Amino acid sequence: MTKVKIAVIGAGSIAWSSTVVHDLLHTPTLLGSEVYLMDIDETRLKRVGAFARKYSSELGVDYKFHLTTNRKEAIKDADFVVNTAMYGGHGYYEAMREISEKHGYYRGVNSTEWNMVSDYHTIWGYYQFKLALDIARDVEQYAPGAWLLQLANPVFELTTLISREVKVNVIGLCHGHLAYKEIAGILGFKPEDVEAEMIGFNHVIWLTKFTSKGRNLYPLLDEWIEKKAQEYWRKWRLSQRNPFDIHLSPAAVDMYKRYGLFPIGDTVRGGTWAYHWDLKTKQYWFGPTGGPDSEIGWMLYLAHHEWYSSYLERLAEDPRMPIAPFFPASRTDESLIPIISSIANDEPATYQVNVPNDGAIDGIPNDVAVEIPAEVSAKGVRRPQGLRVPGKILKSVLWPRMLRMEMTLTAFLEGGRQILIDWLMLDPRTKSEKQAEEVWDAILAMPGNEEMAKHYRG
Ligand code: NAD
Repeated sequence: MTKVKIAVIGAGSIAWSSTVVHDLLHTPTLLGSEVYLMDIDETRLKRVGAFARKYSSELGVDYKFHLTTNRKEAIKDADFVVNTAMYGGHGYYEAMREISEKHGYYRGVNSTEWNMVSDYHTIWGYYQFKLALDIARDVEQYAPGAWLLQLANPVFELTTLISREVKVNVIGLCHGHLAYKEIAGILGFKPEDVEAEMIGFNHVIWLTKFTSKGRNLYPLLDEWIEKKAQEYWRKWRLSQRNPFDIHLSPAAVDMYKRYGLFPIGDTVRGGTWAYHWDLKTKQYWFGPTGGPDSEIGWMLYLAHHEWYSSYLERLAEDPRMPIAPFFPASRTDESLIPIISSIANDEPATYQVNVPNDGAIDGIPNDVAVEIPAEVSAKGVRRPQGLRVPGKILKSVLWPRMLRMEMTLTAFLEGGRQILIDWLMLDPRTKSEKQAEEVWDAILAMPGNEEMAKHYRG
């Protein structure tokens, strides 16, 4: 058992706050640790603090929670810094999406081939990139040697950017890969009996190994597609309530047929515009909600987000309501806290991580963050070497996605307007250069975007 200092930046995050606290409280190997919860939003900070203190006293476990709006205080001498901060809140990006749509860019100028995820803010994420880089620089300055665990999106872009620009141990994490368990379950296998290897970039990962007790499950997946998929889809179309229920959707199966490996987790939300032209197209491929990134699916996600926020508030503040009965009895499947424990206690274990390639996947530059299973311990991240994906995936999926990442990082680092225009000249929704010019003019003129406008106007 090792006591460490953990700083959580953006601790009021609706997506993460309760899970981070819950998983910590169910981790005896880190007992006695000091946890600094940091957020600029005092209301959210108070809520997560009340939640953490009430829950830890219910469970009778000894973690010391400190609340602060001062980032330096949280990061100073930390052993681990967790970044879950998202600049501006969801509403800020929804406003840019609305402007984009007025100019003919359905779901926003940020949506591109292999990144249709509605809160994976790349080309319009200027402030989010700046925030993530500032946090990384604080870690370098005030907590040299600490581990930075990057949970805030876009994990692919930010892990690559931080590892290139800052001397810091960074690992990007995403829970999307856990979707292989649902696929195993639908095929009738216990997830704990299944071994899966998924590799690629964050949100663009492909199932390169899928076995149970030594048996290859791909032939069973093929048989399911041939004999059972139609009936499954018929029922699913009548009952899909959760827009994220797309792991075995027609889109997933179509991607498998086109590219030769099964896409996992948020990969299914991507693809080319063939799956995303409009709501009708999305509904064909992702079910009646149109999947999580349609106007319907994302509206449902944001509504749930709001609801969950009030729910947490109630749990944190109503003395009549205990917290424990509303959460699982043990840790969730999230890898964040187990990774911290593996490093702190030098207990090597394999996790799905995003780290600079350094030879892990053939055909990808070493300074581009890949998502792979790797062994993590106090000694660091031990990557497998020479992993391979089929040429079709490497060259028509991963390289185009890498190009968008490089364009985004160049836009952020160098500024100037041309790259924004070029971004849209590669987009099949663009009918003229004038359209591209006008949409960027409107986005950069949006209140709140003054600094971003200066950066891109030069
Ligand atoms: P959210 O808006 O609910 O939470 C973000 C938090 O960041 C807020 O509490 C906000 O006050 C805080 N924040 C903003 N600016 C800050 C600053 N300068 N310093 C400190 N805190 C600041 O958003 P969310 O839905 O919880 O998502 C948070 C992030 O997590 C997003 O980037 C989202 O895409 C990402 N996410 C990642 C995964 C994954 O698997 N890695 C899964 C879900 C969400």
